[in-house]
Amino acid sequence: MVRVRYAPSPTGLQHIGGVRTALFNYFFSRSQGGSFILRIEDTDRERYNEAALQDIYDTFGWLGIHWDEGPDVGGPYGPYLQSERLQLYRDFAEQLIEQDMAYYAYDTAEELQAMRKAQGDKGSGYDRRGRNYTAQQIADYKARGIVPVVRFKGPLEGETVFEDMILGRVKKKNKDITPDPVLLKSDGFPTYHLANVIDDHQMQISHILRAQEWLSSAPLHVQLYHAFGWSPPQFCHLPMVMGKDGQKLSKRHGSTSVIEFRKQGYLPEALINYVTLLGWAYDDKREFFTTDELEKLFDVARINKAPAVFDYRKLEWFNGVYIRGKSDDELQALMVPILVEAGVVSNPITEQERQILGAALPLVRERMKYLTEAPELVRFLYTDELQYNPDDLIPSKMDAASTARLLQEGRSVVAGFEARADEETEELLRSKAQELGVKLGSLMMPLRIAVTGSRVSPPLLGSMRLIGEARVKQRIDKVLQLLQSKGGTDE
Ligand code: GLU
Repeated sequence: MVRVRYAPSPTGLQHIGGVRTALFNYFFSRSQGGSFILRIEDTDRERYNEAALQDIYDTFGWLGIHWDEGPDVGGPYGPYLQSERLQLYRDFAEQLIEQDMAYYAYDTAEELQAMRKAQGDKGSGYDRRGRNYTAQQIADYKARGIVPVVRFKGPLEGETVFEDMILGRVKKKNKDITPDPVLLKSDGFPTYHLANVIDDHQMQISHILRAQEWLSSAPLHVQLYHAFGWSPPQFCHLPMVMGKDGQKLSKRHGSTSVIEFRKQGYLPEALINYVTLLGWAYDDKREFFTTDELEKLFDVARINKAPAVFDYRKLEWFNGVYIRGKSDDELQALMVPILVEAGVVSNPITEQERQILGAALPLVRERMKYLTEAPELVRFLYTDELQYNPDDLIPSKMDAASTARLLQEGRSVVAGFEARADEETEELLRSKAQELGVKLGSLMMPLRIAVTGSRVSPPLLGSMRLIGEARVKQRIDKVLQLLQSKGGTDE
């Protein structure tokens, strides 16, 4: 029975790497008919952040990814918040002490600091001195009120070996594993290592799919499993996610937190599809998958060893493809709240505004890479009070006078456009451009800006049709006036 978990620590916002780990676990569980568990690893009280915990629920709620067991939905192996399982960790730490596989270490902060200082830059870690304190020394520490930590008494000789599903056999000499790491801190909270191992065992986790940055902890975890007499789950360390420059993906490359992608107008389906391709491929061709399809097709054997590269442009392209794939109703439902929020339409949207949007959908769908582009793309349909940005009004390499001249020419060509097919008007514009010795784009840009108030708009002729000839002319005339006031006419 496959049981996998996503075990985030609520210290920061959910980012691309974490979501990739969660999705791999989720799809693996689904493809195997197994269970997907959310466990919150909140034992680091200094770094704990309430907002980060909420962000976990918000992010996966938005993505539509649900767990079978977790703090919010319960389950047979709860509680699923580590901070509610403290007694369990203490009991198991106690058990290791009884087995002489762990011990109370009474060192003071000053002593540890002095030890580190003496080690210099190379810092080899705890020197295991706590193993050898005499009863007298311990009594002295106790008398001074020193609260001990519990440290693991790891094996000093031999090596620790395990099989990783992706990396194959991993071996580490025991003398090279962190010396006697802390299992239970003096505040009574477990460290990540202790809680993680106990919970994976107690929750009957069968496979651990997690980021490769945890690979270095795995040999210690294996030692802990052995110390408890448990067999470890299957390990599966996922390839790193890099930026295009080959460095680990981080804020330096752009936004990485999911909430930012959400605010930018990404669709959850596009993000899920693209992120699942970070280190996994179905074959060397197919790239588009619905979430339902991934639930069936995901296969751990096809996870790559090599690091994956996160390409913002590609995600953007995916998003555009997903937007174009939406039905009119779906797209409208996604756009309306954004238009309301931007004040482009009334709150709530009126029937007339809705109809205008419906008519514009075929035009804007093709142009949108993100939903947040919607207000700029359709604002011109809802107001005649367009704000013309002076920098936009005059295309580069032109001045006010030449812009006004082209706009005037454009105005006479498009006159009567409602009675003609758009192709015909376009042909007329093309010949006019030729006659004037300018590119078609140079003739259309001033028109586009005058009609829509923006350089990026839905297709021009379609847009003109949506607002009608009278308003088109009014807008052009208004811009002609503006250009004139900039010294733009030589008549
Ligand atoms: N709490 C760890 C994290 O934040 C879990 C690592 C693991 O999956 O073992 O990623």
